[in-house]
Amino acid sequence: MSIDEHDYEPSLDAALAHTRSWLASLATRRVTPSVTADDVEARLPAQLPEAGADPVAVLDTLVRTVEDALAAMPSSRFFGFVIGGHHPAALAADWLVSAWDQNAALRFSTPGTAGVEAVAGRWLLQALGLPEGADVGFVTGATMANFTCLAAARHAVLGRAGWDVGALGLAGGPRVHVLVGRERHDTVDLALRYLGLGRPVEVAADDQGRMRPDALAAALADVPEGAPLIVVAQAGNIHSGAFDPFEDVVAQVHARGGWVHVDGAFGLWAAASPSTRHLVAGLAGADSWATDAHKTLNVPYDSGIAIVADVAAMRAAMVMQGPYLQQDATGVGDPHDKTPELSRRARGVPVWAALASLGRDGIAALVDRLVGNARLVAALAGEVPGVEVLNDVAFTQVCLAFGDDATTRAVERRILDEGRVWISGSRWRGRAVLRFSISNATTSAEDVALAMDAVRRACLAP
Ligand SMILES: *Cc1c(COP(=O)(O)O)cnc(C)c1O
Repeated sequence: MSIDEHDYEPSLDAALAHTRSWLASLATRRVTPSVTADDVEARLPAQLPEAGADPVAVLDTLVRTVEDALAAMPSSRFFGFVIGGHHPAALAADWLVSAWDQNAALRFSTPGTAGVEAVAGRWLLQALGLPEGADVGFVTGATMANFTCLAAARHAVLGRAGWDVGALGLAGGPRVHVLVGRERHDTVDLALRYLGLGRPVEVAADDQGRMRPDALAAALADVPEGAPLIVVAQAGNIHSGAFDPFEDVVAQVHARGGWVHVDGAFGLWAAASPSTRHLVAGLAGADSWATDAHKTLNVPYDSGIAIVADVAAMRAAMVMQGPYLQQDATGVGDPHDKTPELSRRARGVPVWAALASLGRDGIAALVDRLVGNARLVAALAGEVPGVEVLNDVAFTQVCLAFGDDATTRAVERRILDEGRVWISGSRWRGRAVLRFSISNATTSAEDVALAMDAVRRACLAP
């Protein structure tokens, strides 16, 4: 390697210029990609080039290759899936994390990022009203946050039954009974599969997708007294935005000596605003919580957060030792004691930057704005003939239907073909739906009006 190849300025200048034009394009560009992943693959040589290339040329090739293939996911007109944007402070801090290139595992070797992440963890607990002193792990997303929390849960509930899963594994041990709401996110099942806990028992849900307390009581009656028990509740149903009745769930499950985990990938943030806090009453009584910073908080990918109240359970599940690692001996715990990974980027730093930039008031205002825009979607949709709003809009998700399933799917297809906004379809409660997820901090009332214009055009199209 020559010195020139280690001159970062040209490539970073090029990256900044490309970034500026990408961000500037978001206001007007098509939201949907114009080409397929196959097209993108075909634009690049199939064979690894024999000779390398100049970093700036590499970046130019990259940008040219993906230009018309990028979805405008950070756009204020993106309402698909549950996709947050990127707050300026968080995006910039994320760049610094790559430039600093800290292996964020240890307090000893990377005290800068470890200290900032610790503060971010504390601030998160304060913002979300969760127990002071809980462990906070910075993981890739809610999938891994669910996994991390459920690993701690598995350790704790088996430990209470006298079984050390860390030493003995699962085989031959007592069965862990896992109950989930019928409308939990599929990544809960995925996390349970990673953990060898198998398929969970489903608890019936009400018309908004909330776990029904009477159905939970009935399901608990089938769990043998004293058996290891985990119940997964949900803060924010991806179709209705609804919240499980935490107070009731926690009381029932704790009375049985079980562990309550809450998947709150986007909905946990209801706790951060005085106007939505009532939706999550009883939340803090649970044992663990998974959320994303890359959804409601608008931190760039990848940014999930695993929170566990029982620090001993978290550490027992996640701790590892290495004679070459200078590990924390004070009891505070190293960052890697709270995540499945050893080496990782300092992804808690952009979270800190978002929290610092918004403050408590700014986070609450962000949540209120998202919810206000979701209500506006429902109000405007109610004025369009033939459109049904299927859910009570308590939070950030709205499901619409247009008569029969075929019509709803046709409306979705026309909206995506037009490409001015991204609103995607799903199935909920036996019907095809068009799902709005209001998750981008930059979405305005004008964007919502524009989206409803697209819906209206799609309804009228032949
Ligand atoms: C998005 C989501 C997940 C999965 O989160 P990732 O960040 O994609 O891993 C889990 N649960 C709910 C409710 C979600 O909305």
